[in-house]
Amino acid sequence: MARQGLAVIGNAMKRVEDHDFQTKRSTDPGWWGRLGPGVCTNRSVFYKMKGLLHVVANCKQSPPSNDEFGIIMKIHEYQAKGILKKYGVAVPRGTMAANREEAETSAKDILSSGATGVVVKAQIHAGGRGKGGGVKIAKSVDEAGEYAGKMLGMKLVTHQTGPEGRIVRRLLVEETLPIEKELYLGILVDRSEGKPVFMASAAGGMDIEQVAAERPEAILKQYIDPGMGLEPFQARKIAFALGLKAAQISPAVQFLTGLYRAFLDTDASLVEINPFISCTDGRLFALDAKLTFDDNALFRHPDLRELRDITEEDPLEVEASKYNLNYIKLDGSVGCMVNGAGLAMATMDIIKYAGGMPANFLDVGGSASADQVAHAFEILLSDKSVRAVLINIFGGILRVDMLATGVVEAARKTHIQLPIVLRLEGTNVLEGRKILLESGLNFVVAETMKDAADKVVAAARA
Ligand code: GDP
Ligand code: MN
Repeated sequence: MARQGLAVIGNAMKRVEDHDFQTKRSTDPGWWGRLGPGVCTNRSVFYKMKGLLHVVANCKQSPPSNDEFGIIMKIHEYQAKGILKKYGVAVPRGTMAANREEAETSAKDILSSGATGVVVKAQIHAGGRGKGGGVKIAKSVDEAGEYAGKMLGMKLVTHQTGPEGRIVRRLLVEETLPIEKELYLGILVDRSEGKPVFMASAAGGMDIEQVAAERPEAILKQYIDPGMGLEPFQARKIAFALGLKAAQISPAVQFLTGLYRAFLDTDASLVEINPFISCTDGRLFALDAKLTFDDNALFRHPDLRELRDITEEDPLEVEASKYNLNYIKLDGSVGCMVNGAGLAMATMDIIKYAGGMPANFLDVGGSASADQVAHAFEILLSDKSVRAVLINIFGGILRVDMLATGVVEAARKTHIQLPIVLRLEGTNVLEGRKILLESGLNFVVAETMKDAADKVVAAARA
């Protein structure tokens, strides 16, 4: 993949995790990957981990922002539009449809109230739907029904979903609008500046990724003083930069102000409107909307939490979250069970040093119970790409004997055949080792981190 300097686009863009610019984290490092050589390989975990600034110290890049650390909660386009509408942001008329009948009813309503067409849009937590066949324009109820029938249940593959694609379970049926120009708007937090930043471009639409790469000067960045909020002169500056006509400036200012209020009120980590359209009759609309929330603030938004769609999330990650385990699936073959996020990051690094690839990040936490350890083990083993397991535990609050009991229990229950390498230190380490030795199961006990990594990588290759 081409590694282009990202500095040209500015720091702000690096902050964007799920973005029209960005491709799926596990298959393509996206913008992070274009930072240049020496980019830290465990990047994808950074997106999701919190408070681990110290672990990036040995990566040859500036640490990513907390946006990437936070588990970013995504919602669907129709949900985002519902929220934006409450803030006075103009969105096309439309409704969500979960089956063909609902899609037809919605199309009928829209067409009978004067629209010249409807657009049927697949609702998945990824962009690039337009190019992937997930956005279709219909001129009649029957045609809308046909598209809905085809789209629902289909596996939609876009440049952001990776080759595995996403199953379409919901649609958005909306009125079509006479598009004159497709523009781009985004708001996100720039941690290095300590400010939200508005990004705007007259070159919006489906090729914005290319614009960002080739003509970064075509994207305006407007930093917002958090104390002042979006000031009218700033909103006007953005509106002019978008090339809007004089009569559109005032409605644009209203649109931008509503967008910023929505961003602030929902504790969003990203608002992206691509395209933000100007119609032939001058009206302005958010034709697409992406809204992601900072999960650190979700506790104060119970209504937003309800918008979570777990069918869009990795099933193993969902399972792990039930047991309060910090699990993130990765692409390698060495399963890792570790306690403490710092140790987990170090473990992944040392596996890479030894020539292997971690299959996951898993922090069972400092005070995990034997039961949690057993669940963690089951989750690790249900990942088919795992060829060997490394258990690297420092027993502090979680005592080593407790962990050993959990591991033995889980190993018996799951009839594990895979090689397991253990590196244990800390409280009750001798009792722990004894439990493992007496279990009769086939564990390899390593002396040091390096030894453990070498052994597990060799085992995964065998
Ligand atoms: P994305 O590809 O996942 O970002 O989906 P979008 O919602 O941005 O839609 C992709 C493209 O479909 C847009 O850039 C538009 O060109 C087109 N599109 C979406 N809605 C409409 C509509 O109502 N009318 C027309 N003419 N085109 C639309
Ligand atoms: Mn879009």
